[in-house]
Amino acid sequence: MIDFWWRPLLVFCALIAVALSAALFWGLMVAMLVFIAGLLFYLGYHLRQMAAFAAWLQHGERARIPTASGAWDEIFYGLDRLMRRQKRSTSKLSAVLERFEHAAQAIPDGIVMLSDADQIDWFNPAASRHFGLDENTDRGQFIGYLIRQSAFHEYLSGDDYREPLIMKSPANREMSLSVQMVPFGDKQKMLISRDITQFEMVEAMRRDFVANVSHELRTPLTVVGGFLETFLDMGSIPPEDFHKYCDLMQQQTERMRRLVDDLLTLSRLESPQNRLVEARVDMVSLVQSLYQDAQSLSAGRHQISLVSESSDALLGNADELTSALGNLVSNAVRYTPEGGTVVLRWGWRGEALCFSVQDSGEGIEAQHIPRLTERFYRVDRGRSRETGGTGLGLAIVKHVLTRHQGRLVIESKVGQGSCFSACFPLSRVVKSAD
Ligand code: ADP
Repeated sequence: MIDFWWRPLLVFCALIAVALSAALFWGLMVAMLVFIAGLLFYLGYHLRQMAAFAAWLQHGERARIPTASGAWDEIFYGLDRLMRRQKRSTSKLSAVLERFEHAAQAIPDGIVMLSDADQIDWFNPAASRHFGLDENTDRGQFIGYLIRQSAFHEYLSGDDYREPLIMKSPANREMSLSVQMVPFGDKQKMLISRDITQFEMVEAMRRDFVANVSHELRTPLTVVGGFLETFLDMGSIPPEDFHKYCDLMQQQTERMRRLVDDLLTLSRLESPQNRLVEARVDMVSLVQSLYQDAQSLSAGRHQISLVSESSDALLGNADELTSALGNLVSNAVRYTPEGGTVVLRWGWRGEALCFSVQDSGEGIEAQHIPRLTERFYRVDRGRSRETGGTGLGLAIVKHVLTRHQGRLVIESKVGQGSCFSACFPLSRVVKSAD
């Protein structure tokens, strides 16, 4: 304050001093005129500075404060400092806002900000995908007009938002959403949505899997339980019947054992802790032993041959490869009627080294082929069971091949037969010396 007042006071004192000197030399009248002229000059100076200030406020460049002298210089200088500080805090604030905007854009969950009247104030791109909201037309709209599902309306109008609402996306019927309202501030709300399609699919697969396993186990258990009940009811059983029943019970327990073995194999293959233990696998002798297995499984009912065109080995896990390729061989024998042919082949197919099993069986209709590696998927359930199938063989094959960066190629013609090939990339091949 003192800083500001000393200048006008100084000017005033100087004016009085000049007026007093004029009074001494020229009299009181002249002194008065000198004093008034000085005051008018001082007023004119201030009016000029004010005019410059007003012009700058109206049209001036904000970055360039006008230059001034005296007390006005101090005012302009203070204003300049104030504006710089404000500019700094504005740019800090807009950087924070920009960061928030970027984060909101990147969040995979949908966020919709609603006013106290449930009108859309703001939403992020994920919310736009989840609810089909349009940036240009939907801001300010009542959310209930845009999401026209009765369950959502009930949820919105209720006041219990502790549990999320599970609903189908209005933009895509295939997408399942979990939405939750979060009230905040003064009657405002935030609608958070999450895409749970994948989670629901996994959950459905888990339910189907448990149902399938239970169903597969129930039949043999019922058979074994039935025989045991018969034994208890009958007291004594003729020895030939006893042997027949025991034989049937053994078949059923064997079926359960195979199922449990395959389930354990699958679970081991899926376990993330179970890393692939690799070594050089001599494929020529592995294929030779698969050929012998095929012969003993067929027991002379088929013509089986082996074509070994490559002596290259594989980098992989011998047990897993034996189990996977063995499944292909056993399927070919099981699904080929008596008198048919089965050809095992180990050799190059273009860029990949493949183990193929070609059979002259009944073949598979094209629409089943993409689903064959699903657990428990069977084209002919009766035939699979009759021949001791668990419905898990090709699921195991797919897992093993995936772990070896390989792929399963299935070619089939109804009435002519099928060819299942397990193909491995060059990176898995260990070239033989010859
Ligand atoms: P399964 O234990 O039932 O044989 P897989 O997973 O090994 O189960 O095979 C799935 C289904 O694929 C079989 O039930 C069968 O319908 C079909 N399939 C597999 N291999 C052959 C084949 N060589 N010829 C015809 N159908 C086959």
